[in-house]
Amino acid sequence: TADPHTADPHPADPHTAGPDAAHPPPAGPHRALLARHRAVTPSWLATYYREPIELTHGEGRHVWDAEGRRYLDFFGGILTTMTAHALPEVTKAVAEQAGRILHTSTLYLSTPMVELAEQIAELSGIPDAKVFFTTSGTEANDAALLLATAFRRSNQVLAMRNSYHGRSFSTVGITGNTSWSPTSLSPLQTLYVHGGVRTRGPFAHLSDEDFTAACVADLEDVLGQAEGTVAALIAEPIQGVGGFTSGPDGLYAAFKEVLDRHGILWITDEVQTGWGRTGDHFWGWQAHGAAGPPDLLTFAKGIGNGLSMGGVVARAEVMDCLGANSISTFGGSPITTAGALANLRYLREHDLQGNARATGALLLNRLRSAAEELPIVREVRGRGLMIGVELVERDGSPSPQAATATLEYARELGVLIGKGGRQGNALRIAPPLSLTPAEAEQGAGLLVQALRQAQHTVG
Ligand code: PLP
Repeated sequence: TADPHTADPHPADPHTAGPDAAHPPPAGPHRALLARHRAVTPSWLATYYREPIELTHGEGRHVWDAEGRRYLDFFGGILTTMTAHALPEVTKAVAEQAGRILHTSTLYLSTPMVELAEQIAELSGIPDAKVFFTTSGTEANDAALLLATAFRRSNQVLAMRNSYHGRSFSTVGITGNTSWSPTSLSPLQTLYVHGGVRTRGPFAHLSDEDFTAACVADLEDVLGQAEGTVAALIAEPIQGVGGFTSGPDGLYAAFKEVLDRHGILWITDEVQTGWGRTGDHFWGWQAHGAAGPPDLLTFAKGIGNGLSMGGVVARAEVMDCLGANSISTFGGSPITTAGALANLRYLREHDLQGNARATGALLLNRLRSAAEELPIVREVRGRGLMIGVELVERDGSPSPQAATATLEYARELGVLIGKGGRQGNALRIAPPLSLTPAEAEQGAGLLVQALRQAQHTVG
């Protein structure tokens, strides 16, 4: 069931502003397309912007809309464009594979699938690891929850407050934010713990060390009240949709000591934090690595550079615990694995993790120094190319209006960014990892301009 403690006075969609009744329908040339879109898609399917954009092509860190306008893509698709738009290496690998055979299913052997699984198993840091490919992050987390609950023979799981893990029945049921969960029913019994948000909540005033100790005490308390076996803790090392927030480094290492004592599995959801995006580490969990690797790791988004791929990595004994035979029709298909292999090769050969660290630091510093004269900015946080900007009203309360306004102004100035946060008041900045220093400077300048405009109209 959804967590009553996170009840949200300003419900925010996980990804965007959603339909805005206060604004008239767009008058642009693609107005007819928008009307058709709305007529045939669910009312809850969110779009960005008062006048949603149709993106028609991309190159490098830029995308173009149907009217020919160019934008700097500071959201990397939706953290999906990991390396660059239209990366020739990926395009070539996909075209070559498409020319041979598009699809076979897991009933047949596939060289790219095995090669990619070998590389991901090794990179994951999980000993004796096996990989199961899916077509999305939701499905990857579903599979991880299925494995963990089957392995531990319990449907009771721990999740973080303010978390987001997908939109299937099991994953919406565990989200730590009631406004992101369209149902109060869930196949899982979920217990929520503190720790995903450092600068708000009851422990915000504590030092890092005391914050971690308080979260561990909270975890122990929750476990003390749990009836029967708890299967797993699922957590994003940096909360993505939650607004790029995290607890202090080492938090999950401290948690792991408690989890290990109870035999509870640690599932790290690396859908947004994987592949070096955070700069210092290849995976988000590595900032918490002291107590050893997680038991399961899920990934999606960036690995396919836009191709729909996800997956779960688990220790062999956990992965192999399911009794019934199964297949995946599309998971690990030749076309997505061939593209992902080329994407991963490019990432590693060009040290895009190192680039994320360096250009991310540049961007962060530039935004932080500009924020000093922008009272609507409460905090600029993040690591590598995963930067969150939290916006507030004069009285310090969350300002989703300022975030919506900044998104609109940034778009007008030619930069696309994302939005998130428990109250929809955080900007999310996550460009492709090949971002150049010049593009970082240019994008930061435009974002600061957008923030100034937002402050003028909202503040
Ligand atoms: N996990 C995290 C951390 C995510 O941010 C998301 C999507 O935003 C998901 C899982 C779900 O992934 P998908 O949208 O590919 O199903």
